[in-house]
Amino acid sequence: MSISAPQPNPSTDRDARTGDTVTDRLVEANRKYAENFTDPGMDARPVQRVAVVACMDARLDLHEALGLELGDCHTIRNAGGVVTDDIIRSLTISQRALGTRSVVLIHHTGCGLLNLTEDFRHELEEEVGQRPSWAVEAFKDLDADVRQSMQRVRTSPFLVHTDDVRGFVFDVTTGLLREVTPRT
Ligand SMILES: [Zn+2]
Repeated sequence: MSISAPQPNPSTDRDARTGDTVTDRLVEANRKYAENFTDPGMDARPVQRVAVVACMDARLDLHEALGLELGDCHTIRNAGGVVTDDIIRSLTISQRALGTRSVVLIHHTGCGLLNLTEDFRHELEEEVGQRPSWAVEAFKDLDADVRQSMQRVRTSPFLVHTDDVRGFVFDVTTGLLREVTPRT
């Protein structure tokens, strides 16, 4: 797999008719959104007291897939839904400052990280002359990685609620979650 970023192509990245970039279209969509927006008067503390940690994958609509409403939960996402130090940072703030108690971890079938290895880091280093400080956190076995993520949450000294931590694999073809049993 090539690690080089695709070259920008202004002729295809812009709307053929209006010449808008994708960001222009997002800003326009937001203007329409705000026209019908009324202040829900919500507190920042999630109503369902849950934090969902998931992959950033574009096919995973967390609110729709889990029946969540605005204000219900924290959603914390990164490549793979891997529990990194920064995820622990967000979970710590979520629990200690904003009152969440449950953690739901979601990986998914067809994840981009299944096709990568730590060679990605070495190739990056060769290309740019600098070694990234982060691990790629690539994995070959979805269930094993969900278990690893659950374990990292449960053993974090910074978190106060580690009794309700559950992990799942989301099937991008059926929309169904499958629960991964923790290591016993
Ligand atoms: Zn993914």
